[in-house]
Amino acid sequence: MDVITTVEGLRAARAGLGQLGLVPTMGYLHEGHLSLVRQARRECGAAAASIFVNPTQFGPSEDFTRYPRDLERDLRLLEAEGVALVFVPEVAEMYPEGFGTAVVLPAADEVLEGAARPDHFRGVATVVCKLLNIVQPTRAYFGQKDAQQTVVVRQMVRDLNMPTQIVVAPTVREADGLAMSSRNSYLTPEQRAAAPALYRALTAASGLLADGERRGDALRQAMAEVLAGEPLARPEYVSAADPLTLRELDAVGPRGALLSLAVRVGQVRLIDNLLVE
Ligand code: AMP
Repeated sequence: MDVITTVEGLRAARAGLGQLGLVPTMGYLHEGHLSLVRQARRECGAAAASIFVNPTQFGPSEDFTRYPRDLERDLRLLEAEGVALVFVPEVAEMYPEGFGTAVVLPAADEVLEGAARPDHFRGVATVVCKLLNIVQPTRAYFGQKDAQQTVVVRQMVRDLNMPTQIVVAPTVREADGLAMSSRNSYLTPEQRAAAPALYRALTAASGLLADGERRGDALRQAMAEVLAGEPLARPEYVSAADPLTLRELDAVGPRGALLSLAVRVGQVRLIDNLLVE
């Protein structure tokens, strides 16, 4: 496994590979990341991963400096999965002095994570654009866990005619339903016990939908009620939105619904979603 820190080195190593699947990550890997790596390897023959905690997608009061990091462990896990190439750039390699371009999708900033986290998707789209240009993978793999990120990346790739195919894989969960996330490591045991309320709220709403409930308000209300029953959970938003436009739905139509939520458990901000088709 080649571990590469420079753009130039990455380009040289990539040149020796044919079909390649890229899994962009911020590290502190878990089974969710590894499932993407396995799929990339299965479908493309060779897999690459990037590990880069991207400062530009964190707000000034967010957790960039204390985001969990364990590069040695991450590299061991990737090696065991048969990954060919790992790109681990320093911040200065990605944003050298004089860096001045951004990829902006204004519509993304108006809803859900974009509305809650100003400039977040500008940071995400810009870094993903750079990673796709640097690695030039055949396919790039993203988790449904970050639903709006998948919408943003797909739109960017379509709008900018980028040749990489975007693949979205299902959310990997703990046995009690909690979506795996590097940020789960921040949870105290008490908070960890409260965190499955997110998935319970989502399944309550998807259950209602399966029973024929179509009203967006009723679905959002069902999620809010479950969360209200968990004293440690403080919801930031609950949403039943159109899966393509991410606009809140009055009524669920033929495209189905993206049920999603952001919840604080203590200081830890957790997100989750279910795509109901
Ligand atoms: P991150 O390191 O959190 O930026 O995540 C890197 C990639 O892994 C993103 O495409 C995430 O959506 C994806 N991912 C994170 N958690 C999960 C999960 N529980 N299941 C599936 N994919 C995930």
